[in-house]
Amino acid sequence: MTDTRQRFYFTDGPVRGEIVQLETTLADTCRRHDYPDTVKRLLGELLAAAVLLTATLKLEGRLSLLARGNGRLRVLMAECTHTHDVRAIAQLEESDLPFPADSSLRELLGNGTLAITLEPEHGERYQGIVPLDRETLAGCLETYFERSEQIPTRLWLQCDAALAGGLILQALPDDGESDSDLWTRSTGLADTLRPRELLETAPQEILYRLFHEEAVTLPDALPVRFACSCSRERTEEGLVSIGQAEAEDIVAEQGEIRLHCQFCQTEYVFTPEQVRSLFRVSLH
Ligand SMILES: [Zn+2]
Repeated sequence: MTDTRQRFYFTDGPVRGEIVQLETTLADTCRRHDYPDTVKRLLGELLAAAVLLTATLKLEGRLSLLARGNGRLRVLMAECTHTHDVRAIAQLEESDLPFPADSSLRELLGNGTLAITLEPEHGERYQGIVPLDRETLAGCLETYFERSEQIPTRLWLQCDAALAGGLILQALPDDGESDSDLWTRSTGLADTLRPRELLETAPQEILYRLFHEEAVTLPDALPVRFACSCSRERTEEGLVSIGQAEAEDIVAEQGEIRLHCQFCQTEYVFTPEQVRSLFRVSLH
């Protein structure tokens, strides 16, 4: 099944939304990692949220969500590009203790922050940070929208470790003539959505069940997929940026340079000769 995101608009009022459902993307993200299910659930929610937030922005570039805390889960990070390539990663405390089966974001990450970073292809990077002081990721992101964007926004996120789903509703600036009650009505209806429905029911069907009394417009659904942006070329650029002296130190110590992508687990190996030629080339 292709993972998709589905945008929708209320024809009679200033509210828009988006639904995302991920299965293959989540499986590909977790494939080479040994995450406990409770961590996969949070990672799935974070991936869904990254897709939904990217969808609400007119951004050509990359959006990332980074949660850091002092709990057993140290880092949870997800990225989404405007072409809906996503990748995500979790960093766990090193311990043999099992993770409790059903922990909330707050329980696993402890005290920490959630950073939302926008990196446009052209233009300046923007970062907003909110404390992880709500029990759920959806709650923390709603706080972000309240404080930073001042756009009324509600999010519903679910993940059962295999399927992830998300719904966002956002109020658009109102010209004063449209249906002012629509926001209250639509968010109230979305609150009746059951967790399994968000994961398993087709987006068009969800929208019909929730909003069949409203006029809703649906553009074509768009695909979402796991894709890591790492490459040998980028890794070479990274090596050049640390400088020849440091690169040669590593070669002297380890015989070669091995750089490992944490997202997709690809290993880039550079022999001493390859390291030398990298710096020869970069001088021109
Ligand atoms: Zn990679």
